[in-house]
Amino acid sequence: MSARLFPDDILFFQRLLKVEGLYTGELDGLWGPLTEKAAAGFESLSDQIQSETSPFDFRTEKNIRTLVLSAQREARIFMAKVIDADIKAKIISGTRTYAEQNRLFRQGRYGNPGPIITHARGGRSNHNFGIAWDIGIFTETGGYVAEGAVYDQAAEVGMTDTLEWGGDWTGFVDKPHYQLRFDVDLATIRQRFEHGESLTMIA
Ligand SMILES: [Zn+2]
Repeated sequence: MSARLFPDDILFFQRLLKVEGLYTGELDGLWGPLTEKAAAGFESLSDQIQSETSPFDFRTEKNIRTLVLSAQREARIFMAKVIDADIKAKIISGTRTYAEQNRLFRQGRYGNPGPIITHARGGRSNHNFGIAWDIGIFTETGGYVAEGAVYDQAAEVGMTDTLEWGGDWTGFVDKPHYQLRFDVDLATIRQRFEHGESLTMIA
């Protein structure tokens, strides 16, 4: 049994579990038997998806398991291809709760230290719905490579029709970013997520 996902935000976790059809109770933010059962189901399905590919490094595994199940599968297929191409990538970011997103948004603003790294408040980032991940690429000796052609190479080998790459965006280009492709806008995805409605049917 691994540590509970999103321990600081049970409502958020319930929404994610309901999106997967695993949680049948009220979205009340209270941990009870139905939440427990759904969380166990989510973990066992995550294990099953993991067994379809080789396990990755600790950080990648931890982040993949914060994604909705369809995104977990896509992320693993993506990562397997990138690693196969000898690109030393890890998934360094997965799902963030709205509170975590707000914390990130405050960085570099309102006198808080650090650079500005996101333009999205809580509930306004694709990372808030379990459908997006960011990669980091590392050197042989483990140094972090923040940008460069290797990010384009990762997309070249890893991209599929079911994915959207932040490097294809116009305006704010975000090459480490990948997510499931949807034909609806973020507001619709957010609404469905908050009501615990299936996300895969609109993919
Ligand atoms: Zn991202």
